[in-house]
Amino acid sequence: MEPAMDGLDELYMEIILDHYRDPRNRGELDPPAHMAEGFNPMCGDEIKVFLDMENNVIKEIRIGGQGCSISQASASMMTTLIEGKSVEEVHHISKAFKSMMAIHEEGEEGVIDDVDLGDLEALQGVVQFPLRIKCAILSWHTLEQGLKEIATST
Ligand code: ZN
Repeated sequence: MEPAMDGLDELYMEIILDHYRDPRNRGELDPPAHMAEGFNPMCGDEIKVFLDMENNVIKEIRIGGQGCSISQASASMMTTLIEGKSVEEVHHISKAFKSMMAIHEEGEEGVIDDVDLGDLEALQGVVQFPLRIKCAILSWHTLEQGLKEIATST
């Protein structure tokens, strides 16, 4: 792990490294599944999000790409949380995660705490490292971009 991440809780670190070494839902989906790509130039992280939708629900999600442990672990954790969820539910979970990472949409403040973020809570400590927040949030931005592209193409 990068020296800049000293200070992260050891237990959280274990959870992050577990997802990094053994990423969940890694791979690709063939078309007509949708593919969205995201890039974080600050760190060099790349994420591909493959989405197979059915009736406004994420039936399957797969993650491709490469990057630092935070970006890849966050993507892995994200997949376990959103598979089988509706687009509306995903937006709410995404908002809750971003509020934990101190990223708020206009007019919103505070933390959304009615969502169980599961392993994603291990990323909470990353908030101390402003440059790494972009790593943690990359897969979520890419997911949202993908959902937007799907919504506008149908
Ligand atoms: Zn990164």
